[in-house]
Amino acid sequence: MATTQNRQFRPLPVPSVTIGGYWGAWQDAVCDHTAAALLDRCVEARMLEQVNPDVPSPGIVIPIIHWLGTPQMFWDSDLGKSIETIAYSLYRKPNPALEARADAIIDLYEKLQEPDGYLNSFFQRVRPEWKWTNLRDFHELYCAGHMMEGAVAYYQATGKRKFLDVMCRMADYMVKKFGRGPGQVRGYCGHEEVELALVRLARATGKQEYLDLAKFFVDERGQEPNFFIEEAIAQGRDPKGVQKKTLEYNQSHLPVREQTKVVGHAVRAMYLYSAMADVATEYHDDSLTQALETLWADLTQKQMYITGGIGPAESNEGFTDYYDLPNDTAYAETCASVGLVFWASRMLGRGPNRRYADTMEQALYNGAITGLSTDGKTFFYDNPLESTGDHHRWTWHPCPCCPPNIARLVTSLGSYAYAVADDEIAVHLYCASEARVELANGAKFTLTQETDYPWSGDIKITVNPEAPARFAVSLRIPGWARGAKLAINGQPVALEGLAKDGYARIEREWSQGDTMALTLPLEPRALRAHPSVRQDAGRVAIMRGPLVYCLEGVDNGGALNSILLNNGLGKAQTAVIPDLRGAIAIDVPVLREQAESWGDALYAEKAPDTAPETARLVPYHLWDNRAPGEMLVWLRQRQE
Ligand SMILES: [Zn+2]
Repeated sequence: MATTQNRQFRPLPVPSVTIGGYWGAWQDAVCDHTAAALLDRCVEARMLEQVNPDVPSPGIVIPIIHWLGTPQMFWDSDLGKSIETIAYSLYRKPNPALEARADAIIDLYEKLQEPDGYLNSFFQRVRPEWKWTNLRDFHELYCAGHMMEGAVAYYQATGKRKFLDVMCRMADYMVKKFGRGPGQVRGYCGHEEVELALVRLARATGKQEYLDLAKFFVDERGQEPNFFIEEAIAQGRDPKGVQKKTLEYNQSHLPVREQTKVVGHAVRAMYLYSAMADVATEYHDDSLTQALETLWADLTQKQMYITGGIGPAESNEGFTDYYDLPNDTAYAETCASVGLVFWASRMLGRGPNRRYADTMEQALYNGAITGLSTDGKTFFYDNPLESTGDHHRWTWHPCPCCPPNIARLVTSLGSYAYAVADDEIAVHLYCASEARVELANGAKFTLTQETDYPWSGDIKITVNPEAPARFAVSLRIPGWARGAKLAINGQPVALEGLAKDGYARIEREWSQGDTMALTLPLEPRALRAHPSVRQDAGRVAIMRGPLVYCLEGVDNGGALNSILLNNGLGKAQTAVIPDLRGAIAIDVPVLREQAESWGDALYAEKAPDTAPETARLVPYHLWDNRAPGEMLVWLRQRQE
C-alpha cells in the first residue's frame, strides 16, 4: 500500500455526486436563477459582441477598472466561469434553452479561434496590437484558464467535446509558446489561474504536456531575472507599472518555494497556492507542500477573518499586515474565500487532514456563500463583518468576477465533499448527497449521506457496494465537534483509536447496506480573537458547528453595538427561522445599553444603564436576505 506521503486524492467529478438538503436548495437557486442571469448580464455588458466575429467589435466598453488601472479586458473569464456554472446546472436540471445559449457561445469561440489555436476575444477583436505584450497586467492567460475550466466542466456535464477541443487547441498553442526552449517565452501570467486550469485539463484529457506546462508556470514564478521586470523594460514600460508597484501584488517577488508570507492580491494568491498544491499532488513534490504548509499557517493564524474571509483591504484587494482585520471595512472578496476553498480542497490531495478541511468548510459557509442571496439573484463582492445598514447585494458589477465564481462553487459542491484515492474515499464535507464511486482498486459503490447538516449534527452514511469490497472510508471529525460519536452498523466505535489527522479512517470489507452514524455536537460556541487583533478586543463571535452567527437589525433593531453579551451562552436557545429556509437561530439573553436615560452629554463619567433583553443571532451567510439593516458579527462582552 502507498505511504501517506505518496497518496494522491482527487476530487470526484461533479456528475458523480447528487446533492440534496441544504446545499441542494442552493444548487436549485443557481439552476433556477443564477445560471441564466449570468448570461443575461454578460449579454447586457456586450460581451457576446466581443466574441462574435460576424458583428463589429464593441471596442473598449469599460475604459478603466479603477484598482486595475486597465480597461475591463477579461470578459472571456466571465463567460468561461458562466459556462462552467451552466454545465453543472445542466447536469442537475436539464434546461434545453440554457444549453442552447451555451452552445451558441461555444460556437462563436470556435469560429473566433485562430488557426494556430490562439483564442482571446479581447486581443483578437479589441486590441490585437496588445497581444502578448503585457502578461503582468492583461489577464491573457488567466482568461484561457477560466475557459479551460469551463470547457472541462461542459464536457463532463454534457458529454459535448467541442469546447474541450477548442481549449485543447489553445493549450497546445501555449505548450509551444511557453517554455525554456529556444524561441519560447519564459513567462507566466500576472493573475494566476491558468496553472490550476491546466491541471484540470490534463486530468480530463490525460495529456501530460498540460500538466508539465502548469508545473513550468509554477516553477518559473518569481525566478531571477524577474520576468515582469524584463518584460516591462523590453516593452518600454515602467517596470513598477500600474499594479500596486510591487511584485508581491501578484506573488512574483520570490520563487514560490521560498515564499513564507501570504501577500498581495488575495484571489491571485489563492489561485497560485491551489496550483502549487495540484502540482505537489501530481508530481509528489514535497518541496511545494512544505512551502504551502508554511503559507497555510501564515494565512490561517495571522490573516484570516473568522468567516474565512481574506484580504482586508480594498486598495490592493488583498493582504495588509498581520492581525489587521477591520470588520466594517473588510474587503474579504467573495472570490477570495472561494479561492481559499479551492486551495484547502487541493491541500487534501496528499491525504485527509482536518487542518485544511475545517478551514475549507469555514470559508465555504461563511466567506463564500454569503456572496449569493438565497434566491440566487443578487451578489456581494465584499463581505464586511459589520454594517451600519448600507451594504446590500447587487445585481451586477463592472468587474463581475464574484457571481460566477460562487455559482460554480455551489453547483460543483460534490467535488469538494468527496475525494478518492486508489483504495479510499474521504468525506470532507457533510451534506445530504449520493456519491457514485469507482476506485482504482476495483471497488464500485454508492455512498449516501442522509442529514439536515448544518442545522443538525446527525449524519447517517450508507455504503452500497455492487459486490462486497475492501476499501477505506475516511470521515472528517471537525475540530470544533467535541464529543463527536460514531457507530458502525449500530455498534458504537471509539473515535480515539480511529482518528488520524482529524479523520476517522474505517478500512474494512463493506457490504450492501453498511451504515455509519456520525453525531457532531452543535452547541453554540463563543470565540475570542488573538489579543493582537485590535478590532475584536473585548468582543466575541458566536459559532454553531461551522457557521458564524451575527446580529441583524431586522431581528434586533438598530444600535447593535449597544448589545452586551452577559454570562456567556449558557442560556442560549435555538429556534427555526421559517423565512430563511428553515435556518437555525440562536436566542441569547443579553444586556442593552440605554441611550434614552443617558442624557444629552456626549461624554460623562458613568456607565450607561442597561436593560435585559433577548438577542437573536442568525447565520452570517444569510444576512441581508430579509430586510435591510445593521449587522454585527463581533459582539461586545460585558466586562466584570
Ligand atoms: Zn470577485
